Amino acid sequence: RLAAGEHQGRWRLGVMGGTFDPIHHGHLVAASEVGARFDLDEVVFVPTGRPWQKADKQVSEAEDRYLMTVIATASNPRFSVSRVDIDRPGDTYTVDTLRDLRRLRGPETSLFFITGADALSQILTWRGSEELFDLAHFVGVSRPGVDLDQRDISHLPADKVTLLEIPAMAISSTACRERQASGLPLWYLVPDGIVQYITKRGLYRDAVSHP
Ligand code: ATP
Ligand code: MG
Repeated sequence: RLAAGEHQGRWRLGVMGGTFDPIHHGHLVAASEVGARFDLDEVVFVPTGRPWQKADKQVSEAEDRYLMTVIATASNPRFSVSRVDIDRPGDTYTVDTLRDLRRLRGPETSLFFITGADALSQILTWRGSEELFDLAHFVGVSRPGVDLDQRDISHLPADKVTLLEIPAMAISSTACRERQASGLPLWYLVPDGIVQYITKRGLYRDAVSHP
């Protein structure tokens, strides 16, 4: 196992896309675990612009989701946040995210797209799915309630997709929003600064429908 920065020049960059409405410890554990197992130099969190999968749902302001992501990741020197998706007009597609990061970070960067098992199984419905595997390696992480089954990815190129069991965190943003709306505590499900930011900004006061 190599220490950080010993990869003969190539920068190993994890990409954690998400709505992050709000960011929670499930996201952070996933990023940290993939970072360790894949010897990543950095994991960049990329809050979505308008998520087309959630077009019918009420989603918080991009600026609130961006700031929460910054707050939650600020103390980890290997975590960073990118605005590429929230600054790009229109719906967010993963292929655009990866193209932008490839262009910004240059050819000496290897991209590892981190995604939960639920999102990975939809991968072929994504726009530009043929190009996705040229741009990045895909890491599908386990998520409580979602089967991490080899059969589900048998149609994807085997050398481009890895499934990884991570410590189980039965947390979703939907559950966090619903808990906040019904007055249940968010402490220990999200970082302390996120509890405080949600209160300060008055987010999720109304119940939000389940995705
Ligand atoms: P929502 O309930 O609003 O859909 P979410 O908790 O699923 O929110 P997203 O922002 O949709 O969070 O997820 C971003 C990425 O993080 C997705 O790839 C998702 O599969 C993954 N992810 C979210 N929660 C977990 C978790 N608890 N464990 C592992 N992966 C997770
Ligand atoms: Mg989700």
